[in-house]
Order: sequence, then C-alpha cells, then structure tokens
Amino acid sequence: MNMQVTSLAIDKARAWIARPKKMMIDGRWVEAENGGSFDTLDPSDGSVLCAVPRGTEADIDRAVAAARKAFEGPWRKITPAQRAAMMWRLAELVDLHREELAVLETLDNGKPLRVSLGMDVPFAAERLRYNAGWATKINGETPPMSLPGEWLGYTVREPVGVVGHIVAWNAPIASAVGKLAPSLAAGCTMVLKPAEQTPLTALRLGELIEEAGFPAGVVNIVTGFGEDAGAAIAAHRDVDKISFTGSTEVGKIIVRAAADNLKRLTLELGGKSPVIVMPDADLDKAIPGVANGIFFNSGQVCTAGSRLFAHASVFDDLVKGVAERARALKVGAGLDPATEIGPLVSDVQQDRVAGYIRSGLSDGAEAIVGGRTVDRPGYFVEPTILGGTRRDMAVRREEIFGPVLCAVSFDDATLDALAAEANDTSYGLAANVFTSNLSAAHKLASRIRAGTVKINGGGLDQGLPAGGFKQSGWGREYGREGVEIYTEIKSVLVSL
Ligand code: NAD
Repeated sequence: MNMQVTSLAIDKARAWIARPKKMMIDGRWVEAENGGSFDTLDPSDGSVLCAVPRGTEADIDRAVAAARKAFEGPWRKITPAQRAAMMWRLAELVDLHREELAVLETLDNGKPLRVSLGMDVPFAAERLRYNAGWATKINGETPPMSLPGEWLGYTVREPVGVVGHIVAWNAPIASAVGKLAPSLAAGCTMVLKPAEQTPLTALRLGELIEEAGFPAGVVNIVTGFGEDAGAAIAAHRDVDKISFTGSTEVGKIIVRAAADNLKRLTLELGGKSPVIVMPDADLDKAIPGVANGIFFNSGQVCTAGSRLFAHASVFDDLVKGVAERARALKVGAGLDPATEIGPLVSDVQQDRVAGYIRSGLSDGAEAIVGGRTVDRPGYFVEPTILGGTRRDMAVRREEIFGPVLCAVSFDDATLDALAAEANDTSYGLAANVFTSNLSAAHKLASRIRAGTVKINGGGLDQGLPAGGFKQSGWGREYGREGVEIYTEIKSVLVSL
C-alpha cells in the first residue's frame, strides 16, 4: 500500500481543522452548553491545531436524552439488514476519506502516517464491515425444556440500550469505531466521548455517520475531559452500559460511579505484557517481533510487550538486534513519510515516560539503548531498552505506555517457572512467546494468565476476542463476544 498522501488530502485536513468545531448531539452540531472549549495540540511540535467544545454534564444530559429518544423511536424500527447496510455505507465513506482521516489522526495524535494510513483507518473500515455482518446474525437459542407439560422456551438477544463509549488517545479512530461498530450492529444507541488529547477524527467521523444516513440521536459525540464529560457518562442514571478503554486507575473510578444504577461494563484497561524468547526461537522472527512489540506507536499500545525474558543463550544476540533496530528507527513528525517513530501524545505523557526511565536508572538499571527525551520541539522519547532491572522496580511492575523495554535473561528454567515470571504482574492483557517448540508454546499458552497469547508474532484479528485477565479489564471486544457484550439475553417461556 502506498504510505503517502496527496498534498490535496493534507490541504483538506488543514481546511477542515480551520473550521469551527462543534459536537454532534441529536443530529445537530452544537457548542458546549456553557460555551467552553479547549485546544487540541500537534504533539510533533506542541502547536495548537484548533479549539473544540469542552462538553460537561449538561451536554452529556442532552446527548443521553437524544440517544434514549432514538433508541425508543426510529432506531427500533430499522431492521438488522438496514443497520448493516448503513454500516457498510459508513465503511465506504471511511475508505473514501481515508487520506484525510489519516492526516487528521497523525496531526492530532502524532503517529506516523504509515501507521494511521496503513493500519488505523483501514482497520476502522474493516471493523465496520466485520461487525455489519453480525447485525443479521445475533441469534438466540431454543434449548430443550424439562418443565412438566409442553413448553416452548427460547432466548432472544436484545440491544442493551443506551451505551456510553469512553476511549483513550492511542488509537483514536480505530478505538472509537471499535466501540461504535459492534454496538450499532447490536441495535444500541450511544454517546461517544473521545479522549481530550485526540478529539479530531471522532468529530470528522460524526460527519460521515450523518452522511451514511444514521437517524439523529443514534450516535452522539461529546468532546471533553474525563473528570467532567467522562464522569458524567459514568454516573448518568439513564446510561445502560459503559464501554471504556483507558487506564486501570480510571477503570476503577468508572466501576464505582457505575454502581449506582448497576450499568453493564466492558473495561479494556492497561497491561504489562511479557515476551518470552526460548533458546530455540528463530531470532529472525523474534528480533523484529520484540522491537515492533514495544516501539510500534511509540510504545503507546495496551498490549505492548514491555517485559522481555530471553534465554541466556540468545539474550545477547537478541538484545543487540533489537537495539540496532531501535537506533535505526527514523524519529520525526508523523506527517513526514520517512518517519517510523513519532512523538508521544502529550507533554504529560513525555514527562511520565521520562520519569519512569529516570526512576529505573536511579534504581540501578542501565540504558542499553536510548534513555533520553529527544532534543527537538515536540514530545519525543528515544526508543529505550533497560537492562539490569529487578522485579521490585517500578519500571518492571507498572505500565509505562512508552517505548521502554525491560530486558531480562534467564538460565534453564522450567515452563512453570517461566509462566510464573510472566504472571508476576497485576495485569493480564497479552503475552508473547517465541519458540520453535510447539509443545512448549502450547504449554506456556495454557499457563499464562492473559487474554491473548501470541506465539511467534501476531496482531489483532477482527474475529478473535481480545481483553484482559486480572486488572486488565472486564469482558472482551472483537469477534462474537465483542457484539454480545452490547446485548441482554431474554428468556421467553410459552406454555403450549
Ligand atoms: P485514561 O484512563 O486517563 O483516559 C481514558 C479515557 O477516560 C479518556 O477519554 C478520559 O477522558 C476518560 N476519563 C478520565 N478520567 C475519567 C473519569 N474520572 N471518569 C470517566 N472518564 C474518565 O487513559 P489514557 O491515558 O487516555 O490511555 C492510556 C491507557 O489506556 C493505558 O493504561 C492503556 O493501557 C489503556 N488502553 C487499553 C486498551 C485495551 O484495549 N485494553 C487499549 C488502549 C489503551
């Protein structure tokens, strides 16, 4: 795929950014009720891109009321096949505007164009198409009945109702569509709150949602901060479910706020994923796999492989290879087609990651490569490998969400001991194993407590459920499960 965009797409995106920004509530474009706004920045140089409305509780109230009205009214009358057709139309519009969407994503988030154009935007379109297929296939069952007499019993899956979607900034459009698509397929209506760092592609998507013909109020988009707009969704008594992607810390706040009306919750939270490299691993696969696993998207990936455990016999060659890749990565602004690693999303995130590296170094770790912020405008941090970390160090235990790998070697260890090392974390989102021993691979897969175990590489597939064990979350997105989380099961008994 061509990873460059035309200058026309850049001009279109810049012209769109220059227009006043409003939020989408009940099919209309509106300002925040209190007139508030905030700036969204270009992380490659810290410049202001534009101001967007700063939605608060009053705006969430309006959006939830619109979603409820649409749920009880027009949306209900639309057949699953019609829903699917609208979703396909939206996917086609995303494809049609893919260059403009990719430029917006790159400007707002910082990620290289080759990632936004090559992965995030097409992934969003694909996610719409995959989930459109489910709209007509959300079946109930007809279990055999053992009650005395003659009975017909069946189940139906009904939409859960009004959903609040709260998303993170690391994959803004892919993550927003990842929530909209399955919940639309299930027949829900919704309020989407993008992350305050990256609101732009969600707003552009709102225009495409309108163009695709979704009735007013089915999708409402409110931009704003977590502590006001996000918290208002979490506490709202007329929201039936929240689907949240973000930190474990905020996930817990949402659990507490949602308890009031016992909202259904799906939580996609943080991770500290292990990467085990066995002595028999194919290093030609493991080296790029480990490097990509931690440096892709500047390490701002929930499933980033941030704890490397490599057998002593391959450790030096492996780490040397990963360090060479780290040094070779072309750091730069996302819009430069040559850029392979962009900035972090914000100064806050840059400080956070730099703080973790400092704490690791002062606790006795050594920087095998990287270890500093990059001396240029914008929020850049060098791709970093830390050696000599111990289990008790914050860099080994806590999610950094940056391009920082802790590399540890092991001598002969049993599979149980390796799995225990991998499981020595409060998280359980993903794990990676590189080996040519099929039996060891499957044994480790069964012993590691994580929602996804990747053997010799792998990424996200629309059909495979993904989510967390332990404090990495509740529930699963993707696949059939990813749609069913937006449904309630109803049992119907008929005395014959
Ligand atoms: P965050 O938790 O700070 O923010 C996520 C979202 O929650 C934002 O939209 C924010 O505005 C909102 N929010 C913040 N405080 C809130 C509150 N009190 N009430 C309601 N909403 C609130 O997370 P972040 O820093 O934006 O994202 C990084 C985190 O997201 C990392 O921990 C990462 O692992 C996680 N993440 C997980 C997945 C996954 O699928 N498991 C995917 C991507 C990111």
